[in-house]
Amino acid sequence: MLKKINLLGFSLESLESFFSDLGEPKFRAKQLLSWIHQRGVTKFDLMTDFNKLLRKKLNSIAVIKPPKIHKEFLSDEGTKKFLIELDSGSMIEMVIIPEKSRTTLCVSSQAGCALQCTFCATGAQGFDQDLGSDEIIGQLWLANFMTKKLNPITNVVFMGMGEPLLNYDAVLESAKIMKNQCAYGLSRKRITISTSGIVPKIDKLSKDIDVSLAISLHAPDDNLRDEIVPINKKYPIKSLIKACEDYLKSFSNKKNITMEYVLIDGVNDSIDHAKKLSILLKDVSCKINLIPFNSFEGSSYKRPKNKQMNSFKKYLMGKGYITTLRTTRGNSVSAACGQLVGDLSNTIKGKNLINHRTI
Ligand code: SAH
Ligand code: SF4
Repeated sequence: MLKKINLLGFSLESLESFFSDLGEPKFRAKQLLSWIHQRGVTKFDLMTDFNKLLRKKLNSIAVIKPPKIHKEFLSDEGTKKFLIELDSGSMIEMVIIPEKSRTTLCVSSQAGCALQCTFCATGAQGFDQDLGSDEIIGQLWLANFMTKKLNPITNVVFMGMGEPLLNYDAVLESAKIMKNQCAYGLSRKRITISTSGIVPKIDKLSKDIDVSLAISLHAPDDNLRDEIVPINKKYPIKSLIKACEDYLKSFSNKKNITMEYVLIDGVNDSIDHAKKLSILLKDVSCKINLIPFNSFEGSSYKRPKNKQMNSFKKYLMGKGYITTLRTTRGNSVSAACGQLVGDLSNTIKGKNLINHRTI
């Protein structure tokens, strides 16, 4: 039997061509987007503005199938973490971070990651597979319709497992659904794609979609960045900064890039590093997000002392950079990056999940 096509990950354009192939009018695409992503309906038979014949046709060739929530965890600060099982059986994670004025969802774009940044739990697991657009948007769908969440998701960050710009087409398709008014209607400011610096894809992104961009910089010079973010050997800092400048120029509206910088004790956290960073970024319109290193089993890195992190921040603020630093444990978006899946494989090996309460 032919495998049914999963329409969950189809953007408006893709649905329009799907319906036109069926000989149906274009407006069906908007109707279907709204049923799936605004009302959470996955059964064609419940879509009352589709006639019987169309419902029958859809049932015979298509499905709307989100991935499965395997397990849900609640961390101390109210952050909810989810292990999601893909069709292939691979596990990924997503995180919901409720705050006063917004609820942020952190999504994964790949199971594992090939880029092996030395401070990252996902990198330590290696690459497993790319997610389909259905599996990426499926995380937002699950977060809005299938969890005991308090509020609808207002912001999405691609800061879970994987390098989004190495799964470009699926990430783009899912971001289009996030923005579409018949689906989630999230504005460009509420969707952030975080990348370790895949230079040619940064250029492409500026032409394809208007979302917010975050760069995982983590080091102010090539020597250090080559070591902790190995993709830097392929796309060195100079080319990355140039890509950021070009990216900013390509939009008529005023934009800022977020520069992410994981602070690791004794590795990249000295005032000398802060000084080099402030010089490096002087011509890039950006804000700096300092992230305390979140430790995981098997890593020898440590989080710097709060005093050191605050001095780093103060230096950059003194140079005029808008700089944020969240010192509360687990509350930072990236704190979960790859760590649940790592914990799970430890559980499978006979160890216990730590730091998370199952709910
Ligand atoms: N691959 C993309 C997006 C996923 S990682 C990227 O690298 O940008 C999302 C963010 O989490 C990145 O800034 C990454 O550097 C950070 N991160 C990864 N491991 C971390 C850890 N152990 N502690 C703190 N931040 C971490
Ligand atoms: Fe991959 Fe990002 Fe982790 Fe680096 S930090 S290994 S790019 S997920």
